Amino acid sequence: MAVVSDKEKASKGATAERTTTKKATTKKETAKKQREETIERVRQEKRRQKKAGKRVLIALLILVVLLGGAVAAYQFILGGNVRIVVKADSISIIEGEEVPSFTVQATSTSDRSKRLPPFGKRTVGDVLDELNSGMRYEVFCDSRGDVEGEYPIEIEIAHSLKQELGNNLVVENGILLVKNRYGEWDGDRFKRHNGSYVQEDFIEWQGDRYYFDAQENKVTGEIKIKYTLYTFDAQGRLVSEVQLIDPDKPMVALTYDDGPGPRTGEVLEVLEANAAYATFFMLGQNIYESNSHLLQKMVEIGCEVANHSWSHPDLSRVSEETVRVQIEDTNASILEATGGVASTTMRPPYGAVNATVKEAANMPIIFWNIDTLDWQHRDAQTTVDSVMNSVKDGDIILMHDIHDATIEASKMLIPKLKEAGFQLVTVSDLAQIRGVVMEPGVIYSSFPKE
Ligand SMILES: [Zn+2]
Repeated sequence: MAVVSDKEKASKGATAERTTTKKATTKKETAKKQREETIERVRQEKRRQKKAGKRVLIALLILVVLLGGAVAAYQFILGGNVRIVVKADSISIIEGEEVPSFTVQATSTSDRSKRLPPFGKRTVGDVLDELNSGMRYEVFCDSRGDVEGEYPIEIEIAHSLKQELGNNLVVENGILLVKNRYGEWDGDRFKRHNGSYVQEDFIEWQGDRYYFDAQENKVTGEIKIKYTLYTFDAQGRLVSEVQLIDPDKPMVALTYDDGPGPRTGEVLEVLEANAAYATFFMLGQNIYESNSHLLQKMVEIGCEVANHSWSHPDLSRVSEETVRVQIEDTNASILEATGGVASTTMRPPYGAVNATVKEAANMPIIFWNIDTLDWQHRDAQTTVDSVMNSVKDGDIILMHDIHDATIEASKMLIPKLKEAGFQLVTVSDLAQIRGVVMEPGVIYSSFPKE
């Protein structure tokens, strides 16, 4: 078609014009276009790379799945998926008991007939039988059962079997639990193996010593038990013990008769303040509920509670039955007032004894070898002098804690004796320290060193 309409011309003209306009802006636009093209190329490149990355990942995943399948197939075909567990039983004993022989068991969840890798020569059953007959392993445990603690029971499988089984072998070691010989803790108390709680006694736990009081509680700080001062730390571990009485040094026994009296408590205070101990021969008729705290304090500070009859008769002039009642009633009274501490020695009033008294007393009979005659002169200084002028090691000194002068004398005498190098102990302890086993019905009046 050769005919070009005006309209078309006009249109062409317009195109030419636009082209011209375009040409005018070409330089700016070209730069912009180039930038856009560059951006687009970079974008496309990134997209290509992403696609390629995804392909590599998928390939890797396929490879992993294939490999896994191959391994599983290998294991399935050659019996590789086998677990042989060799387990030592855990044991619990009490310290000092003999360690029983250890038991080891080999088990497997696989069928006994399953062949073992790598070449399937032996079956699971072969290996289990071998192990369960005690072959191809040894057991070690580093304990003879004499020290509390937890000790591993270790199984050492023979090297060749270890190699044969490789990863199919699982060894489970056991534990030998050696329990404390005394028992176990229950808070601040300590429960014995028989279920009772430790009371007024020591236990040893992991190399440390602990003490429990009458209320079964663990003791911390200081406590005096007999002639020993024990110090415990805040956790109750014993850190020191100091002997308050040296058995090799001089000692005497102060004895107080006829009480308890209204001022007996003052004597107890002086004794306690001087780390001194005495023996109180008391009359049953003088022990009341209202002064039982005095007897309890005697026990608490380490003094000895003893029997001086019920009402101070001359026991050599009464019937045997009366002697028994006088002594037994007083013993019962002392036992009740102290809350369970028994009198183990007696002193007959006036030192009057005969064969019947000796027989009926059924306790060691304690006399004296220094008589202060305090009841007669009632003078504190005379009492002090009578002792200090003649006292020697092993003496038993007679006084009466129902007289004011004796109370005053005690306040001077007790520190004076200590200064002079005498330790003041109870009669029973003096005898024990001197190696004398006192016998019922036998009279003792001093315990000198042999
Ligand atoms: Zn008397």
